[in-house]
Amino acid sequence: MCECKGLPEFIKSDTSDSYFKKFKQIDWKDDAWVKLIKCPDCGQYWQLDEWDKYQTGLAIKIEDPESWKTHNDKEIRIEFLIHTRGGLSEKTCAWQGCNNKAIIGLAYCPLCAYEKAGIRE
Ligand SMILES: [Zn+2]
Ligand SMILES: [Zn+2]
Repeated sequence: MCECKGLPEFIKSDTSDSYFKKFKQIDWKDDAWVKLIKCPDCGQYWQLDEWDKYQTGLAIKIEDPESWKTHNDKEIRIEFLIHTRGGLSEKTCAWQGCNNKAIIGLAYCPLCAYEKAGIRE
């Protein structure tokens, strides 16, 4: 049996020979860098990033394959960034004009880290 049920809503997917290898590819977007795949056992849909050693790849559970192409995953990617860093610190974001709390170990808040500094994990 598969492990989909026990897995969190989003996980890091670092290698191409991961858990998802036997999954069926249903669709793709962003020049095939992002795929929609389906578990052959339980039918759970996942969004999977094409593996690239310079990027942080994520596998994200998709509840509605119909709206998948317009689904905005930025919030989940930012949540992942906060999660892997261990949360927010008491420091203020170093980006000029930003008063949000910085992520632990980083100078920037989640949004500035993601959008302006291009940090993914
Ligand atoms: Zn499954
Ligand atoms: Zn900021």
